[in-house]
Amino acid sequence: MKSTSSIDLSGRVAFITGSTRGIGWAVARILAENGAAIILNGRSSPERLHSRIGEICSRFDVPVEGILADVSDPRAISRAYRSIHSQFGRLDILVNNAGVLEDAVLGMIGEAGLRRLFETNTAGVIHSLQAASRLMKRNGGGSIVNISSIVGVEGNRGQVAYSATKAAILGISKSAAKELAGDNIRVNAVAPGFIDTDMVRNLSDTIRKENIARIGMGRIGSPEDVARAVLFLVSDLSTYVTGQILGVDGGMVI
Ligand code: NAP
Repeated sequence: MKSTSSIDLSGRVAFITGSTRGIGWAVARILAENGAAIILNGRSSPERLHSRIGEICSRFDVPVEGILADVSDPRAISRAYRSIHSQFGRLDILVNNAGVLEDAVLGMIGEAGLRRLFETNTAGVIHSLQAASRLMKRNGGGSIVNISSIVGVEGNRGQVAYSATKAAILGISKSAAKELAGDNIRVNAVAPGFIDTDMVRNLSDTIRKENIARIGMGRIGSPEDVARAVLFLVSDLSTYVTGQILGVDGGMVI
């Protein structure tokens, strides 16, 4: 039997949504470091996307492309997958990471914010799963990781809407895992805790300290902490793991 002590993703093509910053960018780097061809994605800044492509090219000897697309727009997702098909002819790894955060206590949740959250964090994941699984079936399988959140598991004050979009990802991941297991496509979710990215940088010092006080390991997580868990789930170290939720939260949940 082949040794599985090392990870080798060479020959595999990985699409990471929302990979110009934060967790997605860390995932892109670690997958490139382990040999995967990388397709980066961002929504708002062509300059940042191009500079990230340049960084991967200069550090790793893997093919890299970038797709500027808003995952909340189903037509943009279709175009993105057509481009992946025409440029790479296959897809082996999808990390559904793009997400937005809008905090609001129950009485302050507005229609527009609610729509933005669900269209990006939930519908975007479903649309991407549909297109990715079609491509993966053609090449005999693949691995999909959906980025949920600890608040999708536990809930949080001021995050009724956001946590609903992240809880939905758990149902999506388990249901898709059941539908796709026979096609050798694994689907898992990662539920990060409190991770040091732009998404949480505007929090007040008080909230930041309160959050850190709830973490057993006593420190905020890094994007790389999450990326290493994603690497495990997309690699051959987890060939029999599907439909699971992996918390990466330094002990916030226990
Ligand atoms: P971040 O630092 O705000 O980065 C978000 C990334 O997603 C950026 O590359 C952004 O691209 C992209 N993006 C946002 N909306 C998009 C859209 N509609 N279409 C395409 N790309 C889009 O966020 P992060 O903290 O790394 O979060 C990544 C994921 O982890 C999210 O799903 C988030 O909910 C989840 N998460 C984060 C934490 C945390 O504590 N940070 C905890 C639990 C879960 P642009 O730069 O172009 O906008």
